[in-house]
Amino acid sequence: MSDTATTPTNATFDQFGLHADILKAIAEQGYTTPTPIQAEAIPVVLGGRDVMGAAQTGTGKTAGFSLPIIQRLLPLASTSASPARHPVRALILTPTRELADQVAANVQAYAKHTSLRSAVVFGGVDMNPQSAELRRGVEILIATPGRLLDHVQQKTANLGQVQILVLDEADRMLDMGFLPDLQRILNLLPAERQTLLFSATFSPEIKKLASTYLRNPQTIEVARSNSTATNVTQIVYEVAEGDKTGAVVKLIRDRGLKQVIVFCNSKIGASRLARQLERDGVVATAIHGDRTQSERMQALDAFKRGEIEALVATDVAARGLDIAELPAVINFDLPFNAEDYVHRIGRTGRAGASGDALSLFSPNERKQLADIEKLIKRPLDVQRLTVDTPVRHHHDERGAPRRERDDRGGSRRRTTGAHERPHGTHHRQQPVDDFFLKPYEPSPSAVSAAAKRDEAPAAPQKPASKQPLAALLGGFGMPRKTTPSN
Ligand code: AMP
Repeated sequence: MSDTATTPTNATFDQFGLHADILKAIAEQGYTTPTPIQAEAIPVVLGGRDVMGAAQTGTGKTAGFSLPIIQRLLPLASTSASPARHPVRALILTPTRELADQVAANVQAYAKHTSLRSAVVFGGVDMNPQSAELRRGVEILIATPGRLLDHVQQKTANLGQVQILVLDEADRMLDMGFLPDLQRILNLLPAERQTLLFSATFSPEIKKLASTYLRNPQTIEVARSNSTATNVTQIVYEVAEGDKTGAVVKLIRDRGLKQVIVFCNSKIGASRLARQLERDGVVATAIHGDRTQSERMQALDAFKRGEIEALVATDVAARGLDIAELPAVINFDLPFNAEDYVHRIGRTGRAGASGDALSLFSPNERKQLADIEKLIKRPLDVQRLTVDTPVRHHHDERGAPRRERDDRGGSRRRTTGAHERPHGTHHRQQPVDDFFLKPYEPSPSAVSAAAKRDEAPAAPQKPASKQPLAALLGGFGMPRKTTPSN
């Protein structure tokens, strides 16, 4: 066990006895040495044993389970065109579409020199192309639980020959309410199988899931459970709630950040922040469950290409995102669920790179900060950040906002103070900026206008324009858990 989850090891990929076709694909990916989770997991998975892996995304865990799975399935690979020769033999379940897509891209790259087929299915997009691919036969299926069950129901997926099951980011699947779906899927699988469970955190619920469905698992832990990657520098900046947008702009500009994920606790908050950042000259776009899958993918692609500086995301939307060399993440809000902090900052400092996790902390978030420090078992470095935001709203004792000028004079740019309005307060002293009344529209510079509007929505649609004013101004409780979006 080691704290340095992403530090390359002295091991080599040659030592595992992987097939030359797999080694070739690894070399093409540019991997020279296995990461610690790979060094530990690959031999165990090759040996056929169940695994309980404590590893965050960013540690190289996908290759840690995919490479040995491909190796184990190779003797069964077939060049026949007959679908019957390509049954689903390995099933990889992930909580979100983005993670499913990423895992699928990795598996495809690692298996590209073999005749094993892989496919990915997730919700929010047309089922027909997925059904057609499944009918042709695939050995490795990557899926989100809801859509997989749809395919099972439509008889386009048969799980009767699955030999290896991976539950990736199992903690998040439970958080998102997928336990009943998981149980249904598990009941469809042969009892005789290998099961690999990966989770960034080990809650009692995860331990219960593992004790029910895993057999004598080998525990593999490359970072202490609930710990944060040691190559990530974590700084908490104390700022007034109304100064947070200015603080994000300042951090991006002062640090010259070209690519940063900014986390918000709510979809509306994410949309609003993206708009505000754009207004302040930062190329930004939001991804969250109210945007179509096509919009989310396009935003992500634009971000990966470096066309977007700030990707404003909710926890669910950003789960498992793999952005090579992401230098920093910013927590606009501290998460209500401390474990989300661990997941969020795992977006940076990946696979050995260093990164900065910058969090904005306002006095009303003391409890969240305390919960995070308790979870990661150490105090965080809290610094003050002075933001040059000249006019802002404050509440009087009754909660009604009032305007005041800051003590530094300066520019007169109006800030909304929307975050500061207490729940249920309808009173306002000046007209509300009408952008709060419109649904989010991605920046034309950031996201191609060609988003296919005819796709199924990513999640139950709740356009911002339909929200009552109080809700748009933060006047409803933000749920700790987000609706499953597949
Ligand atoms: P993961 O934790 O599986 O999401 O992987 C995080 C990132 O590390 C991905 O971009 C992988 O392509 C990359 N990666 C995985 N294994 C290695 C390796 N052995 N050497 C360098 N990069 C790797």
